[in-house]
Amino acid sequence: MPTDTQDANGTTLAQRYADVKARIAAAAHRVGRRAEDVMLVVVSKSGTVDQIRELMQLGQVDFAENRVQQLVQRAAQVDEWRMRRIELSGHAPLVRWHMIGSLQRNKVKKAIECTRLVHSVDSLRLAEEIQSAASRRETPIEVLVEVNVAGESSKAGVAPGAAKHLVAQIETMVNVRARGLMCMAPLEGGLDAARAAFERCRELYDDVRQSGAGGARFDILSMGMSGDFEAAVECGSNLVRVGGAVIGPPQVFEDPADA
Ligand SMILES: *Cc1c(COP(=O)(O)O)cnc(C)c1O
Repeated sequence: MPTDTQDANGTTLAQRYADVKARIAAAAHRVGRRAEDVMLVVVSKSGTVDQIRELMQLGQVDFAENRVQQLVQRAAQVDEWRMRRIELSGHAPLVRWHMIGSLQRNKVKKAIECTRLVHSVDSLRLAEEIQSAASRRETPIEVLVEVNVAGESSKAGVAPGAAKHLVAQIETMVNVRARGLMCMAPLEGGLDAARAAFERCRELYDDVRQSGAGGARFDILSMGMSGDFEAAVECGSNLVRVGGAVIGPPQVFEDPADA
């Protein structure tokens, strides 16, 4: 496996991974928090399965995809690889999958089979669909309520004012458990706008926690991507979803016809 192949920008996957982890730790320390209080989820959507396996061998456990099809496919490929490793050596690194993209109701059943956390629940209907698809499971499906903090019409998510109510409704469902909130920074306005959105989401999160609407295990605040994860951690995020900064530039596949 190519563990030290440099990309076009001259860094390796292992270097970028270490760098992102160090930056998360530094951001946490700046606001008096511990590095281990912030979970790094690597968004693998633009990466390859080889990169996922390499990151797993470096100790990364949590990965996210934004399309159900690719999530299911990759979970199966990685599982197969893990089984082979277990046969050969008796053990294999752990993996957990996160669904971060918008989820169509007709794909819920497939998606939840391999997903540890669904970050993108933004309606009661979707929560109800998960509830019925998960009816025969022993443990509830854990979800985050996605909030459209900046009120952008192009973005998914519930309005900030509706988040607490949706969390409370989910709390009444047996097979779905609300674990927290997720948000994205607005497209415009740079880091200042991102910070404002993160602060707003943090306040909302604190408000839901204090109200008790989310129950005892409402403890995840998912915010921060490659361009703004340090700001997000400084604003209280405890789960960052980082793609490009770890994965690197999109892979260029050689066309065998040119060889
Ligand atoms: C793609 C994606 C990310 C990661 O974005 P990068 O800028 O590559 O870090 C995070 N969250 C969601 C919801 C995404 O779709």
